[in-house]
Amino acid sequence: MKWDYHVHLEQGPYNKEWLRQFLEAARLADVDEIGFSEHAYRFRQTEGIWPGNWNLKAEVDADHYVRLVQEAKDNGYPVKLGVEVDFAPGKEKLLEDFILQYPWDYVIGSVHFIEEWGFDRPDQEYLWNHRSVEKAYQEYFTLYTEAAKTKLFDIMAHPDVIKVFGYRPDGSLLDEYRRCAEILKQADLCFEISTAGLRKPVGELYPAPEFTRVLAETGVVAIINSDAHRPEDVGHSFDLAYAYARKYSITQLARFAERERSLIPITSELAKILSD
Ligand SMILES: [Zn+2]
Ligand SMILES: [Zn+2]
Repeated sequence: MKWDYHVHLEQGPYNKEWLRQFLEAARLADVDEIGFSEHAYRFRQTEGIWPGNWNLKAEVDADHYVRLVQEAKDNGYPVKLGVEVDFAPGKEKLLEDFILQYPWDYVIGSVHFIEEWGFDRPDQEYLWNHRSVEKAYQEYFTLYTEAAKTKLFDIMAHPDVIKVFGYRPDGSLLDEYRRCAEILKQADLCFEISTAGLRKPVGELYPAPEFTRVLAETGVVAIINSDAHRPEDVGHSFDLAYAYARKYSITQLARFAERERSLIPITSELAKILSD
């Protein structure tokens, strides 16, 4: 079976019809279970956690979102209730208070901002030309590993999303990769192989091949997700991602229910892909 736990409803109305379109797309993509993971910063209940100059709109009622997904679950649809939470340094207690308010199946941790800079936002891409690329990568990995150390999360999203526009530092990132992998392993977190990068200017999976190799060799558990914001992107390029996992000898993937992790072997899945 396949599952996709990184899916956003934010580009449509938060109603049953919109949710149903994602379920239908999942069925067409051969994805058996779908996990929704709205950005926590979109919820009124988190207003004030992230700096005002990040310009994030807190206009959705988290209660409504949770109820919508919960109802689909109660009606027997193969869905999970998740959330994607941006790490906010110094706001750990507020993040924890918010997370503990709802019955999530899993919590995804991510980094999209270096101080006030939304480095992966198309409207802020020009700022890459005013920054040291080396420093941006350093700062990103510091935030990412700080986030992992909080243990607030179950899954760490798109591990090298910092490469989104294709800006790369000179020299090797191997030491950063190793340090990051060690921290994820110690925190018993799972890392995401995300196909979203294929749909971005960088045009490749997150994490990069060498990073994936280091994470796998360190024994960090993986999950494969799409980060879909539209129904048609659910399960996007999963065959490629499964083959990628196999290349780095990843033999099992994480699933979650009520924040408990289980590991599912992907052998039979791969056998199917390879025989196609
Ligand atoms: Zn994200
Ligand atoms: Zn996302």
